[in-house]
Amino acid sequence: CGIVGYVGTEDAKEILLKGLEKLEYRGYDSAGIAIVNDEGVHVYKEKGRIATLRESVDQSESGLIGIGHTRWATHGVPSQVNAHPHQSTNKRYTIVHNGVIENYEQLRREYLEDVELASDTDTEIIVQLVERFAREGMSTEESFRKALSLLKGSYATALLDNEDKETIYVGKNKSPLLVGLSDGVNVVASDAMAMLQVTNEYMELMDKEIVIVSREEATIKTLDGKVVNRESYIAELDA
Ligand code: GLU
Repeated sequence: CGIVGYVGTEDAKEILLKGLEKLEYRGYDSAGIAIVNDEGVHVYKEKGRIATLRESVDQSESGLIGIGHTRWATHGVPSQVNAHPHQSTNKRYTIVHNGVIENYEQLRREYLEDVELASDTDTEIIVQLVERFAREGMSTEESFRKALSLLKGSYATALLDNEDKETIYVGKNKSPLLVGLSDGVNVVASDAMAMLQVTNEYMELMDKEIVIVSREEATIKTLDGKVVNRESYIAELDA
């Protein structure tokens, strides 16, 4: 399983699909992508192979920002509905996640009693929490940091906000995650292999950090909002 994200100047869908193909070796039972353009967020997801996902994606789909996921089901059977990306009820937020949220039942009872969930996944809890906190008046970044700080378990996760079509919010705890840097292009991946097609310069993310990724910037912060400086390195790998 793995995640990818892209914000830049080229066709995101092709880069994300290629990235997911590079992550196939990690094993998965379903896959999906979300692409953002002026019209909004478009989600494609399928049970089975990346090739099946690829066939389902509208060829005319275009967008310069998006996220992608290969799933290894832990909560909820492998199916189209349980495949990622998942969206919050009002569709403002779209998320992909690798890992296991151990306290998702408790979070659901505590914060989301009145929310009708669309899937059987632990993941959907995260995106619904972000929507809840945003509706209470927090910014997306604050909502994301608050949601992650409530989670027990492991996650590598990437979130899109329909009202800010330039930014990917990324978080990590006990699951690998890298941010790739290039000129006017930034990417996110579980494994540098997935994004060597775009760049070989990476920054590692530590547990309980987030990164706010846009075309020109990738800002790492702690879950309580302090900016962290991190050196990048060059990945010596063959694409
Ligand atoms: N726990 C999540 C799910 O079952 C993510 C699984 C994964 O790491 O792919 O959907």
